[in-house]
Amino acid sequence: MCTETNNRESVHDLFDREHLWHPYTSTINPLPTYKVSRADGVRIYLSDGTALIDGMSSWWCACHGYNNPRLNRAATEQLGLMSHVMFGGLTHEPAISLGKKLLKMVPPSMNNIFYADSGSVAVEVAMKMAVQASISRSGDHNRTNFVTIRSGYHGDTWNAMSVCDPVTGMHGAFGPALPIRYFVPQPRSRFGGEWNPADIEPLEQLLAEHSGEIAAMILEPIVQGAGGMWFYHPEYLRQVRKLCDRYSIYLIFDEIATGFWRTGKCFAWEWAGVEPDIMTIGKALTGGYLTSAAVLTTREVADTISNGEAGVMMHGPTFMANPLACAIANESLDILNEQDMAGRIAHLNALITEALQPACGFDNVQDVRTIGAIGIVEMKEPVNVGEFQKECVKRGIWVRPFGKNVYIMPPYIISDDDLRYLISNMLEIIKPS
Ligand code: PMP
Repeated sequence: MCTETNNRESVHDLFDREHLWHPYTSTINPLPTYKVSRADGVRIYLSDGTALIDGMSSWWCACHGYNNPRLNRAATEQLGLMSHVMFGGLTHEPAISLGKKLLKMVPPSMNNIFYADSGSVAVEVAMKMAVQASISRSGDHNRTNFVTIRSGYHGDTWNAMSVCDPVTGMHGAFGPALPIRYFVPQPRSRFGGEWNPADIEPLEQLLAEHSGEIAAMILEPIVQGAGGMWFYHPEYLRQVRKLCDRYSIYLIFDEIATGFWRTGKCFAWEWAGVEPDIMTIGKALTGGYLTSAAVLTTREVADTISNGEAGVMMHGPTFMANPLACAIANESLDILNEQDMAGRIAHLNALITEALQPACGFDNVQDVRTIGAIGIVEMKEPVNVGEFQKECVKRGIWVRPFGKNVYIMPPYIISDDDLRYLISNMLEIIKPS
């Protein structure tokens, strides 16, 4: 599985360590980084030839694996036409055909699409839309705040940060610079478990008191990703929808991580059967090739914004609807739509669930949970990421834990043997000695 080498230094680049910032990393005491020379299928190849089986899909996005011939071809063909043109006053076939495909995949009430350049920007846009629509609909300029659930994660830009979990998120580092939002507890009724009606009570109480200040509720449906890797009961979403309707609050589903079959449904809202007013998508949209995202809304939201004071949606990024990204996304959606994805993800889920089973008996493990092509081992104590990853690289796998969670969301094309190897080696690393 793994090419042994005596020259480990070559995968840790000194310039990189001295000058390049990596995500959430100290410049004084950075975690090790491994230099990658190429990636193909489910394998990431380090500069010394070591091959790693990828358990992360590069943070949810490389759903077809790496170096996919069809996505490569789509990119090359589009490059020969144009890699980018501005979207102000111009349009193009890749954006139009992507829009048509997306509208067949998302909740039926979605009608208008705003292409954004990253997940965090999509969340900013969704929140701006909710504020514009809310002021326009109510005529009330105080209806501009947001409510969300604890342990959420929505990105790293200003407003996105403000609705991330206030303790495990970034509120500590930014203090009063961040807008103050309303938080309700995370629903504790597990996905696949019993529904406890007490889960919805805090939101009921909050809205009874503060709905007049709130434009929208934002949450990740069913699967909370980076904020806690928690899967909750679909009934929560049904109850949320009812309350949002009762109090005239828009509902935003952030499907940036959950979208494109990761949870076993094309989008996670399908588990509950309730539709949002605004939805964000990103990550796997381009099969992990380029940064791109989108915000989708109902016709009502779009028209309410357009009937408001500004008369337009107030956002327009330079790289909006980038043709190269749209062309690759078109091909990526075709690859998904040509397959029995429900069957494929059910197969992966059965295998992940079975292979993770031994971890349930480990003393240092708090909980093991799976949904779709996601598997999580929640440890009792935070994991030493640097040490853990050193072990991963020795064994030829790539897994990046966060906090107490050791988790995988591999590319959908992973073979059964590679998936078993990935999980059994991950468990060897966390097994109590
Ligand atoms: N929302 C969710 C649910 C996410 O998981 C992420 C990315 N981890 C984002 C938003 C932000 O996306 P990006 O990193 O592309 O800005």
